[in-house]
Amino acid sequence: MPIKINYKKCCWKDGKCSSCSCGGACIGCVEACPVGALKRERKVIFDSKKCIDCGACVEACKHDAISLSN
Ligand code: SF4
Ligand code: SF4
Repeated sequence: MPIKINYKKCCWKDGKCSSCSCGGACIGCVEACPVGALKRERKVIFDSKKCIDCGACVEACKHDAISLSN
């Protein structure tokens, strides 16, 4: 069951945080992932081969931008 990132909701845009509500530095999904499946580049990218479907990133995202999909 891979995750799905809603890039409209995700505050990480063009390599920087675009949000005021999280203090200008989104600490969330990337830090929460125990296997390094998420990275911040120009946008948040996801490596489905590494993902173990733990759901930690879904819980960590303050912007409700990640969901588990099936
Ligand atoms: S579901 Fe778990 S393993 Fe997969 S990207 Fe999210 S935090 Fe990482
Ligand atoms: S925690 Fe949510 S808002 Fe922040 S970078 Fe990850 S997906 Fe985007």
